[in-house]
Amino acid sequence: MAPKDNLTAVLYGINDMRLEQRPIPVPKPNQVLLKMEVVGICGSDVHYLVSGRIGPFVVTDPMVIGHEASGTVIQVGRDVKNLKPGDRVAIEPGITCRTCADCKSGNYHLCKDMIFCATPPVDGNLTRYYVHDADFCHKLPDNMDLEEGALMEPLSVGVHACRRAGVRIGSVVLVLGAGPIGLVSMLTAKAMGASKVIITDIVGHRLQKAKELGADFTLQIGQNTTEEEIVSEIKAKLGEDPNITLECTGAEQCVRVALQVTKSGGTVILVGLGKFEMTVPLAGALVREVNIRGVFRYNNDYPIAIEMVKTGKVNVKPLITHHYKMEDTLKAFHTAKTGEGNPIKDNLTAVLYGI
Ligand code: NAD
Ligand code: ZN
Repeated sequence: MAPKDNLTAVLYGINDMRLEQRPIPVPKPNQVLLKMEVVGICGSDVHYLVSGRIGPFVVTDPMVIGHEASGTVIQVGRDVKNLKPGDRVAIEPGITCRTCADCKSGNYHLCKDMIFCATPPVDGNLTRYYVHDADFCHKLPDNMDLEEGALMEPLSVGVHACRRAGVRIGSVVLVLGAGPIGLVSMLTAKAMGASKVIITDIVGHRLQKAKELGADFTLQIGQNTTEEEIVSEIKAKLGEDPNITLECTGAEQCVRVALQVTKSGGTVILVGLGKFEMTVPLAGALVREVNIRGVFRYNNDYPIAIEMVKTGKVNVKPLITHHYKMEDTLKAFHTAKTGEGNPIKDNLTAVLYGI
């Protein structure tokens, strides 16, 4: 019997999320119909709920939330060759035009016509049934579960950051910020062979989590800690200068520290999205030929993220803090928003279906 229940989490405006029934979508020839299985809640989902916008992206019309997801294929469009009903997939949430110069040159993540789940006005996938282009669905190997599948989204950001940085055996890596993105970046750096990783945060329990996940050193930044102190403490703990710094906070102080602490000739990767304009000590970095590179989401990184988990190089499971059923989505967002009883505040809260 065809399914009828398509309960969906729809954001109507600031602090106005509603669960409502939506029609079950029909896949186009290049799409698959998915029974959604696990959807993580990301900081940006919470931001849209609380503020109704992120930078230029404003929620003006009701929008389905959610973009860190996995599902099971239940129907395929007539042109789909890479998937079949029953396949379990991680869903890469950004669909590109595939024909522009950026797409054709291999930088599809920079496509100007990208449509991305739960970035207004595009609907996300916190819903029971959802259609997605088949070439942006990555089949999961048998030894990976659907929770791990959903976590391929943030992990791919970490993979992209570490590939942009050129992390390899012997790299000495500083990660600024132990939120979900800092943690997946740290896990990836270790998997790619970094010999030492130090991670900083202002919140003690986040550093505790980082330690459990394998950080070699942690540094808690106090309210009155000066930049000079941060730079010298990082160097003292490592016993040398980091040759790669992954900035995962977006805080001006951290960008400033990154430029000063990174080894001459080394690389600073900017992942954190902070203020559009900042004051930073640039000349000191340029005369030391420090490379500065931006990161925007991911580009051919899902297959690598999946491979890392499949082969046991990375364990993402400890990042999951809570499980909720679809019906309890509002409760899940409340927890993500307030961090109530949550060891990693506003972390990847997994919303589970049908369990
Ligand atoms: P988060 O807010 O959960 O984590 C940020 C962490 O930085 C927090 O633990 C916070 O305590 C810490 N922090 C803040 N100020 C600090 C300081 N001065 N020193 C040390 N630590 C400090 O966010 P997240 O989900 O982990 O994402 C991290 C950043 O990456 C955000 O800015 C997010 O917007 C950005 N992001 C960028 C991309 C991209 O494609 N470039 C993708 C995803 C997320
Ligand atoms: Zn394009």
